[in-house]
Amino acid sequence: PSDHDDIIIGKEKIIEEISKYEHPYFIIDLMYWDEHTIKEKRKLALQLNQSYGLIRDYLWGERLVLTWLNKEAESSMHFPLSRITSFKGPTHQFLAENGIKEAILLDPWAKRDIKPEDFTSKAFIIGGIVDKTGDKKGTTPRIGEKLQENKIKVKRRKISLMGDTVGVPDRINLILEILLKMMFEDKKMEEAILEIQ
Ligand code: SAM
Repeated sequence: PSDHDDIIIGKEKIIEEISKYEHPYFIIDLMYWDEHTIKEKRKLALQLNQSYGLIRDYLWGERLVLTWLNKEAESSMHFPLSRITSFKGPTHQFLAENGIKEAILLDPWAKRDIKPEDFTSKAFIIGGIVDKTGDKKGTTPRIGEKLQENKIKVKRRKISLMGDTVGVPDRINLILEILLKMMFEDKKMEEAILEIQ
């Protein structure tokens, strides 16, 4: 292994020792890839690139999962897909193959905020959705329905400022960063939101 790999392995060990939580999968669900314009696909790829950097800061690449990955999405990525977990099939199939029966869906339309008791989950799902055109409203709950239709128990949870999602950035990498800060740096939700702004 290169020096770089050694550093990552070292960090993995440290996180294993200090983390209260399992090392869950952070799944970005690309079910809606084809619904995006070329410009949106470019932005989506950029946000995924930033998510890759983040997961390597906190955990390691393999914990980031891209599902529904088709040929076009694959060729749009700017980082080595061999360093993460890439999955061509649907999210429910990935979960089933890994023995995971329930997951937390990060959903701005959810009733409940995400709380520390949710952090023991083995999988967190973020919608691989960019809204530059206004035709994708309500797509995140649809990701949840698809999972439930396929026998995955889904807990929908939002990130909010006193119950309101206005003022919370909706970029995939920022949602991931807020979550990672809450889980692995013990930050309160408001604190984590402020820090990424
Ligand atoms: N158009 C989508 C909708 O109406 O459901 C929102 C897409 S948002 C740009 C991308 C993803 O970030 C969402 O699928 C969700 O997983 C996550 N997300 C964005 N804001 C969030 C919030 N306030 N709380 C929880 N998850 C959020």
